[in-house]
Amino acid sequence: MSSEPLLRVENLKKYFPIKERLFSKKVKYVKAVDGVSFTLQPGETLALVGETGSGKTTTGRTILRLYEPTGGKVYFKGQEITKMPMRKFKKIRMKMQMIYQDPYSSLNPRMSILNIIAEPLREMKVNNIEERVLELLENVGLRKEHMYKYPDEISGGQQQRVAIARALGVNPEFLVLDEPTSALDVSVQAQILNLLENLQKERNFTYLFISHDLSVVRYISHRVAIMYLGKIMEIGTTEQIFENPQHPYTKILLESIPIPDPKEKRRKKIVLPGEIPSPLNPPSGCPFHTRCPYARDICKEKEPEYVEVEKGHLVKCHLAEVIK
Ligand code: SF4
Repeated sequence: MSSEPLLRVENLKKYFPIKERLFSKKVKYVKAVDGVSFTLQPGETLALVGETGSGKTTTGRTILRLYEPTGGKVYFKGQEITKMPMRKFKKIRMKMQMIYQDPYSSLNPRMSILNIIAEPLREMKVNNIEERVLELLENVGLRKEHMYKYPDEISGGQQQRVAIARALGVNPEFLVLDEPTSALDVSVQAQILNLLENLQKERNFTYLFISHDLSVVRYISHRVAIMYLGKIMEIGTTEQIFENPQHPYTKILLESIPIPDPKEKRRKKIVLPGEIPSPLNPPSGCPFHTRCPYARDICKEKEPEYVEVEKGHLVKCHLAEVIK
């Protein structure tokens, strides 16, 4: 992998304003993404993992400017895109596509598969559209007969293949995959993951893979970032995160997935109390202190800085080097 990142995210923030009460003028902010930084190399898959409400989907959407960022910068191939005028950004945005969790809702039910895939191609003034649509369908394992069907006439897995074919049509380099398999049956999930993996190998695609499913993440990612309340608590290679997790939250998440290795079953199980706090009133200090079994006084008072425990393995915890 080259050393020039395809994507660089620096201190990205997305706050949503909400009124305190219905007719109140006072505004509070939901800090959905609060200071997220990472880089992505060409051909790499970084997984963003966390519970519902951790800010992972908002991070993906803010990078693509489906939400305008509140703060921070995003660079795509060295060019800052965060404040770029929309007309200029539109051309770069073609290189950045998103695949959604529910393929059906991302496809217009009144359009044939041919027209769904052809729509962006017509905007790009591509010649021989039908031929190109057929080629794209074949790239994702579908056939000519699918071209004339409508979204509700094909299965969930085929709908997701159509969504991927439509994204491929504009020759993207970077894809945000937002839980792309979680709405599908297990057997179909594996097929879509294989398809995404093969496309990455063939075309050197770069993926931001958003998921709460750690088994899938372990299979598909090169690196993993664990998010909690809008912040990355730990980031490292897939091996560092799965074999040597350092943050208490990561350890608890890993405890929640079934591990077939009998030696691993002897590991002491840590139970995560309560639910993720509201990003409207995040806890002071370390955002995880209200649920952390290791919390000390300092955790309530001071937000921890990142500690590099190994090259590229960063942990945001006061006790990162103490807890083993
Ligand atoms: Fe737990 Fe404290 Fe570390 Fe936060 S900083 S994860 S509360 S030990």
